[in-house]
Amino acid sequence: MPAPNFDVIVSLAKRRGFVFPSSEIYGGMAGFWDYGPLGVELKNNIKAAWWRHMVHLRDDVVGLDASIVMNPRVWEASGHVAGFSDPMVDCRSCKNRFREDDLKGKPSEIACPNCGNRGTLTEARQFNLMFATHVGPVADTASVAYLRPETAQAMFVQFENVATSMRRKLPFGIAQIGRSFRNEITPGNFIFRLREFEQMEMEFFVHPRDEDRWFAHWVEARHAWWTDVLGISDERLRLRPHEADELSHYSKQTTDIEYEYPIGWSELEGVADRTDFDLRAHAAGSGKKLEVFDEEANEHIVPYVIEPAMGVDRAFLTVLVDGYTEEQLEKEKRVVLRIRPELAPIKAAVMPLLRNRSELVERARALTADLKRLVPAMYDDTASIGKLYRRQDEIGTPFCVTVDVESLDDGAATIRERDSMTQERVSLDLVPGRVADLVAGRTGWQGVPRE
Ligand code: ATP
Repeated sequence: MPAPNFDVIVSLAKRRGFVFPSSEIYGGMAGFWDYGPLGVELKNNIKAAWWRHMVHLRDDVVGLDASIVMNPRVWEASGHVAGFSDPMVDCRSCKNRFREDDLKGKPSEIACPNCGNRGTLTEARQFNLMFATHVGPVADTASVAYLRPETAQAMFVQFENVATSMRRKLPFGIAQIGRSFRNEITPGNFIFRLREFEQMEMEFFVHPRDEDRWFAHWVEARHAWWTDVLGISDERLRLRPHEADELSHYSKQTTDIEYEYPIGWSELEGVADRTDFDLRAHAAGSGKKLEVFDEEANEHIVPYVIEPAMGVDRAFLTVLVDGYTEEQLEKEKRVVLRIRPELAPIKAAVMPLLRNRSELVERARALTADLKRLVPAMYDDTASIGKLYRRQDEIGTPFCVTVDVESLDDGAATIRERDSMTQERVSLDLVPGRVADLVAGRTGWQGVPRE
């Protein structure tokens, strides 16, 4: 099935409580979105999967959670105050704004892509993407500070504190998950390009001689994470090395991991070789030495940095787009969000076959409580079983557990698996453990088709 278009995803996301427009009752705000009850669960699961693989399963990466507002000198030294800008073009007629690199030609020679008028586009001027604010009671130039446009700089600025307190030797990495802010000229495509978003970045410090080896390692490791851990289809992923003329000012080589969205191939994550650019810039800015001792060469060196950097919101969008499937059943169409059980907001939904039989309702509620101790689970009896299954399929719940009249005699319930729709009959007291094992992948599914 081809990737669904964004409208389908935006509508599902809103209808089922994944993502809402920010401050919607006031008309929303371009570039800002809120994660609803199911969205926050999915987002947390994506972040946990990243943290587990980048930090917990490795012994050469540690974490950091830095403040969003930092000393403004950080952004002077990093080059963001002078250079973190996009070329902006205005239309004098319809007042729309564009990024010059999105236009198909020179502003003076083409018609406005919005209103179609000719000769109305201005020349490009540089527009700094950092949100500025003021710290303290006086709003003057001395109190200007910025909301960070990337999380990476904190890892460079705290490099020495982390290395010393954790007794790190090269190679080692510092990982961080946190909000970033960019005053994007053209936010849009749902949560693809936001003005407030979340990033997961890891700065991996290596000896300069090992730069290429670690760059190749991280490109491969990050690609494998998307397919093996998040379960994203490999045929919709590709690696795209940057051409020399598109490299960022700090980068010697960059490879993007791109996904084939309904809007075309676009960046999901970038792996950049930042060399010693940042540590040297902050050493110059702060007057501190940001070096490590290399025992082999018996000298102090400034490490090189390999950086895998990605956006949580884009990962979220990718999981929704990639998981969305429509299937034609005998009598009806079903929408299934085929996402890994590990990512699903709810792992199991319990439902009594008949909601007017109090014994069934009681057992189902008790079972839900038992399940909740092990995995996120919910009880639902607000519709017929068929409808309840469809609702759970649409939000990606991997298992539904039905308590039926037979359960009163045999003390068992039916577990139904989302993708195959096959079923297992399992003793009620074993259901929570079985579901937890299945979700964690500790055991395989052995369902049989429904009679
Ligand atoms: P672009 O050139 O498209 O503006 P970028 O190359 O500057 O983006 P990076 O600075 O490399 O992006 O950011 C790393 C990751 O952060 C991106 O791969 C993306 O997943 C995410 N990201 C960047 N900007 C945004 C944004 N405005 N909204 C959502 N996610 C973003």
